[in-house]
Amino acid sequence: MADIIIGSGPSGVSAAKALLDRGRDVLMVDAGKTLEPEHMAQRDEMAAQPPQGWDKTRRDAYQQGQFETPDGQARRYGSDFAMEPADATLSGEHGWFGLRSSRAGGGLSNLWGGAVLPYRQQDIADWPVNITQLAPHYAAVAGFMPVSGAKDGLCDLLPGIEMAGRSPVPPGPQARNLLERLSKKSNRLALDGIHFGAARQAVDGDCKACGMCLHGCPWGYIYSSQRTLSELKSHPRFTYRPNAVALSFFENSTGVDVALEGGETLRGEHLFIGAGVLETARIMLASDPSGTREMTLMDSQHAFVPMLHRWRSTPRPDALPYTTLPQIFVEIDAPDVSPNLVHAQFYTWNEHFARDLIANYGFGLGITKPVLNAVARRLIVAQVFLHSQHSSRINLRLSGDGKLIPTLQPNPQTPVVLKSARQNLSRAMGRVGMTTLGFATRLGPAGSSFHVGGSVPMSANPVAGQSDTLGRPLGLSRVHLVDGSVLPSIPATTITFSVMANAHRIAASAP
Ligand SMILES: Cc1cc2nc3c(=O)[nH]c(=O)nc-3n(C[C@H](O)[C@H](O)[C@H](O)COP(=O)(O)OP(=O)(O)OC[C@H]3O[C@@H](n4cnc5c(N)ncnc54)[C@H](O)[C@@H]3O)c2cc1C
Ligand code: SF4
Repeated sequence: MADIIIGSGPSGVSAAKALLDRGRDVLMVDAGKTLEPEHMAQRDEMAAQPPQGWDKTRRDAYQQGQFETPDGQARRYGSDFAMEPADATLSGEHGWFGLRSSRAGGGLSNLWGGAVLPYRQQDIADWPVNITQLAPHYAAVAGFMPVSGAKDGLCDLLPGIEMAGRSPVPPGPQARNLLERLSKKSNRLALDGIHFGAARQAVDGDCKACGMCLHGCPWGYIYSSQRTLSELKSHPRFTYRPNAVALSFFENSTGVDVALEGGETLRGEHLFIGAGVLETARIMLASDPSGTREMTLMDSQHAFVPMLHRWRSTPRPDALPYTTLPQIFVEIDAPDVSPNLVHAQFYTWNEHFARDLIANYGFGLGITKPVLNAVARRLIVAQVFLHSQHSSRINLRLSGDGKLIPTLQPNPQTPVVLKSARQNLSRAMGRVGMTTLGFATRLGPAGSSFHVGGSVPMSANPVAGQSDTLGRPLGLSRVHLVDGSVLPSIPATTITFSVMANAHRIAASAP
């Protein structure tokens, strides 16, 4: 009998890789939505020509869908296939909640920013698994997912992944300039607990610097777990069942039954659930393995901190070639801010900047478009993430219609730690020629960082509502949760690489 995996997102494919490497048979059950043919055709048309061959009309048409994205959603290739609208998953008053689920092949990795850092031991001191145990699994994941970056000032701080021999995606003019300025002041910055380096990105070295990252890479150079799924499909012991929505499971002494929408039941020897934290919570609550009525999600809350650089950028940042994923990571290691790292990823010019400026500060204040366009070319935005210790939590209950009712548990520490982190970052960036626009800082709604999990946290001695170190909720021996649901806390330094490593670790050691 095969092992069943629910989900083809980053966690699901990581578990599949480990199980297949052990000689097990795998049946992957996946809601599995795909990009619509018309959007696929538009993407392929773009990819058929080098970026120099795209005229303005084509570029604008490719980007337009993203500019029209409804609030709270993310979109690539003009399509909503990869993110479910809030109402599909949530019930009750949920306008404050930013997390969404995916029912796509490849899950949310069709949309993500590809920022990948390992965790630091100190930041997972409350976990029953340590960084030495995770390290071989980070390496295994980096064997099938590209990790770009450099051997630089972040390596000593975050040694979980070997960076020797890796190359960064070439930085654009603003990022190059900022990195040089940071390097010149590195000793002084280190005294303030500021460490920096090239972004670690799940992006192929073939990147053509066409600047379309936030609209959907025409060549698929930004890793999506769809890529690994395609490879898995040719494995003789792997079976893929798309268009299959799992509702609940039932475990007995000989296996696990998975009930699908439509009435069919599948039986597996073991079940690995990587449906993303919202869908996994829904499946858990519907299956009710130990009378679980409620779950609590942990969040790594984030904020956008805009800054203006005081130097003149040459060449212009909006002239190709450039990329628009975050290009620089800055880690704040300062006990007076937090005992844990605060992570900041820096975005340089992209075509959303001027639009946002015009929408927020434009004609109402009488500022003209050319002025705001010029300001946008000096804008760099830091996305700052906090450890879950300082972030809000979200309670989830199942409603009568099978959706989730979220309730917010705000954390009074969030604004305090964020302010302190911003001041620290602002001081550091002031030393290298940047001015922070503190008044324009925007705290993201709870869940909107998508760095969320911890609803069934792993524990060495699990009690009700927790799982063991193999992601098995208390009372279950054949069901393993492999996505962010089992993280005991959410450090700031990006979630997905660690979720993948942990899923690989669980599937590599599960009985
Ligand atoms: C805009 C955006 C940017 C992001 N940027 C980053 C980043 O830079 N770095 C980072 O670390 N993280 C980032 N993330 C978060 C990252 O995308 C997720 O952490 C990651 O995709 C989670 O992987 P997963 O496998 O747990 O779940 P998902 O990616 O959500 O995949 C879930 C899978 O389960 C399937 N599924 C769901 N429900 C069912 C069901 N009931 N039955 C059957 N199948 C089901 C889906 O079809 C899908 O295949 C970002 C997310 C977004 C939205
Ligand atoms: S710049 Fe972004 S969209 Fe363009 S090729 Fe590189 S990764 Fe793909």
